[in-house]
Amino acid sequence: MTKNLVLVGGGHAHMTVLLRLGDFSSNGHRVTVISPSPHHFYSGMGPGLLSGIYDPPQVRFNIRKMAVDGGASFIEDEAVRIDPAHRSITLRSGAEVAYDVASFNTGSRIAVGPDAAPSDRVVPVKPIINLYRARKRILEELAQRDLRIAVIGGGAAGVEIAANLWRLARRKAHRAEITLVGGERILGTFPERVRALAIESLLKRDVEVIGGTRARAGADGTVALSNGSSLRCDYVFMATGVEPTPLFSDSGIPTGEDGGLLVNSFLQSTAHPELFGGGDCIALSGTPLAKVGVFAVRQNPVLFHNLMAALEGDALHPFEDVREYMLIMNMGDGTGIVWKRDRVWDGRLAFLFKDVIDRRFMMKFQVSGERKESAES
Ligand SMILES: Cc1cc2nc3c(=O)[nH]c(=O)nc-3n(C[C@H](O)[C@H](O)[C@H](O)COP(=O)(O)OP(=O)(O)OC[C@H]3O[C@@H](n4cnc5c(N)ncnc54)[C@H](O)[C@@H]3O)c2cc1C
Repeated sequence: MTKNLVLVGGGHAHMTVLLRLGDFSSNGHRVTVISPSPHHFYSGMGPGLLSGIYDPPQVRFNIRKMAVDGGASFIEDEAVRIDPAHRSITLRSGAEVAYDVASFNTGSRIAVGPDAAPSDRVVPVKPIINLYRARKRILEELAQRDLRIAVIGGGAAGVEIAANLWRLARRKAHRAEITLVGGERILGTFPERVRALAIESLLKRDVEVIGGTRARAGADGTVALSNGSSLRCDYVFMATGVEPTPLFSDSGIPTGEDGGLLVNSFLQSTAHPELFGGGDCIALSGTPLAKVGVFAVRQNPVLFHNLMAALEGDALHPFEDVREYMLIMNMGDGTGIVWKRDRVWDGRLAFLFKDVIDRRFMMKFQVSGERKESAES
């Protein structure tokens, strides 16, 4: 019997499903893909997109084309409400999409706080397209005048953004003064050696690093620090941690503490067996996973299997993950810092290692002529 599968968000966890859409149609099912943008950017290469190591066609997937080439329908819109009782999803445009099975990979957004609405000057580091847009504006302005740029957030994303801003600004007509404001402790959840290497790398390049203080950005580019001082900035990059979109809580569907769709080990809603999800937008019942793309990527085969199984009435597979993962930071100067378990190393080879892993991931899923697209499309 023909059933409707709806994929909401074409993020990292939906890549295998998007690659194998033909398997669903050959089993007689209809697939609809909903995404606010035809492109999805791979976050792991986002800092490199900011600095110019990569250009947009190298770091994004054409979700619209993947969907259409695979025989699915593509709707450029955003899900704002789910009605599990009627198996219907309401979109921002007001349209309704019916489903038999739906899967959510709507990711996360930067928690910017009430004072710093995103603008040309206040740049949340997600969605990743923000980084490319900011890059272009900064390059234009550095041709005219010096800039002061702050990055708020001392996690891996904040460090990578500060490091890659340095690369973006080097050897330009004018200078950029870059400050990383890292909250209580820069890379506070990382081993001491990772912290030391990252801070040393930034300081060596005259990136100012402020720890032990929290920051609030105002819409005019003023950054107020909890120690009473303030910075007047031309640009403020917000890397202040992520939160899932309010889609699930707004719909009255059980969520984890962070508002992510609460799922069991089958990546299936604990309340509505026809709803699934992967990536940053889910909260795995028990111990939630870290919000890193690695887990979204690892969930691909399980989501693919389970969506097909849910449509066909077959047995589901559990997502049995070893929770450890390797993290590699792109330090913007051709070097990287690798951390896995108790091993930490840095240098040029570390960046090349990351670059190879990232390019391989792109090559596997860029099947819709993305490399031939223009950067501005
Ligand atoms: C600068 C930076 C660098 C990072 N580097 C790394 C790294 O090197 N390694 C790593 O493991 N992690 C990294 N991360 C973490 C990583 O970004 C996330 O864990 C990852 O993006 C999660 O993937 P996702 O597919 O769940 O979500 P997302 O990448 O956020 O994708 C969600 C998709 O859903 C779409 N969408 C959103 N809302 C809706 C809606 N309502 N309806 C329809 N579609 C919707 C969005 O447009 C988007 O395409 C980095 C994060 C940042 C900010």
